[in-house]
Amino acid sequence: MLIGRELLGQIEASILSQSESSRFGLLLVHLRGIRQLTALLGFDAGEALVQATELRLGEVLRPIDQIWRSAPDEFLIVLPQLLSANHGLLAARKVLREFEAPLNVQGRPMMPLLTLALAFSSDSDAASPQHLIRRAMSALERALESNNRLALADDANADLWLQDDLRDALVNNELSIQFQPLVDIRSRRVTSVEALARWRSARHGVIAPSRFIALAEQAGLAPELTRWSVNAILREYAPLRRQMPQLRCAINLSPKVFSQSGIEGQISAALAIWGIPPESLTLEVTETAVMDDPELSSATLRHLRDTGVRVAIDDFGQGYSSFTYLKHFPATELKIDQSFVTPMAGDPRARQLVRSMIGIAHHLDMEAVAEGVEDATTLAYLAEMGCDIAQGYHLGRPMDVPELLQRLRAQE
Ligand code: C2E
Ligand code: MG
Ligand code: MG
Repeated sequence: MLIGRELLGQIEASILSQSESSRFGLLLVHLRGIRQLTALLGFDAGEALVQATELRLGEVLRPIDQIWRSAPDEFLIVLPQLLSANHGLLAARKVLREFEAPLNVQGRPMMPLLTLALAFSSDSDAASPQHLIRRAMSALERALESNNRLALADDANADLWLQDDLRDALVNNELSIQFQPLVDIRSRRVTSVEALARWRSARHGVIAPSRFIALAEQAGLAPELTRWSVNAILREYAPLRRQMPQLRCAINLSPKVFSQSGIEGQISAALAIWGIPPESLTLEVTETAVMDDPELSSATLRHLRDTGVRVAIDDFGQGYSSFTYLKHFPATELKIDQSFVTPMAGDPRARQLVRSMIGIAHHLDMEAVAEGVEDATTLAYLAEMGCDIAQGYHLGRPMDVPELLQRLRAQE
């Protein structure tokens, strides 16, 4: 493709005019075999096919999409205001589908053979349109070489794709749940389990929850993810609880969702559906999320507590809690972050910090929970310090329900 200077200027202006906040795509449409057609039937026939293609592209795409003829056998299309990468992909697939029927060219039915390449704007493209065009062009080269009808420019926008796949994963139930035991340090019995989400994607492999939960939040999927996870967790927990009525369950709430009004209603409704009493459920919210807006958090925690569920402040020590506020948080548990607990055995300072945090928890009438207990020495220190609950690889990794059942039966 050789874009003339004037045309390049127009395309650049169009790209630069895209507002920073909205995403846009760049679609390259290449017609294969135009040269052969021209050699066979003459220049007019080749040109007529390209023009008929342009007309149909205009019918298929949205009125705001801008189509340029960037070469004798190629179109460059700016797709403004895409809600997600998926919308760009839908547009490309629609083009391919609509061109499966022949075009009428000079009274003859003709099938243009299209190859498409799609690139998405990233933050840096607004400043450098040529970079975006080059990415689309190299994707097109790849598609032509490998005989694919559509190629995507893979680049800094991997997250965008991941977000779309996550959306699909939620719909297709590709996520799963594991449970990690929480052990009462005095009795050494499992009194509760923490539910942890897992995503094994067919395309991307295993993706850590810390990553896909952040992605979900960026993509505005946090409410959907919460709806999915609360139900998926309670569905697995309900039969467990029927066998072991004392066993409690903890669910992590994403910061975005936690501060949303109506969350307590959603939780109560889910508990009612699964026939689970509220006191069997603990909701975990990170210290950082709670401290983001302490006044609002305090009220939200109060609403949640009023429904009867327990509330834990997760990853304590990572954030910057003000003790004034901490005093007013109606939480039932303080979960000491694993970055303090895991090194305890070999680090006197870490031990000192954990000892103070256990003191804070008890002072505020909360249970002290230590996360990240990886060895027996740490557990012994925690017992000596009066910590209430421990969680960590030494006591049990996150596991599926059958394995958990085995573990729980062994302790009966
Ligand atoms: P978290 O709530 O603090 O969960 C504890 C994390 O520590 C889990 O990581 C667990 O596998 C890991 N862990 C447990 N024991 C040990 C240990 O002894 N050593 C070490 N090194 N790690 C240990 P995971 O499953 O990767 O989850 C990471 C975070 O993702 C969680 O941290 C939680 O904040 C979030 N998360 C997980 N599932 C969900 C979910 O369904 N919804 C939401 N909103 N967040 C979730
Ligand atoms: Mg947690
Ligand atoms: Mg934690």
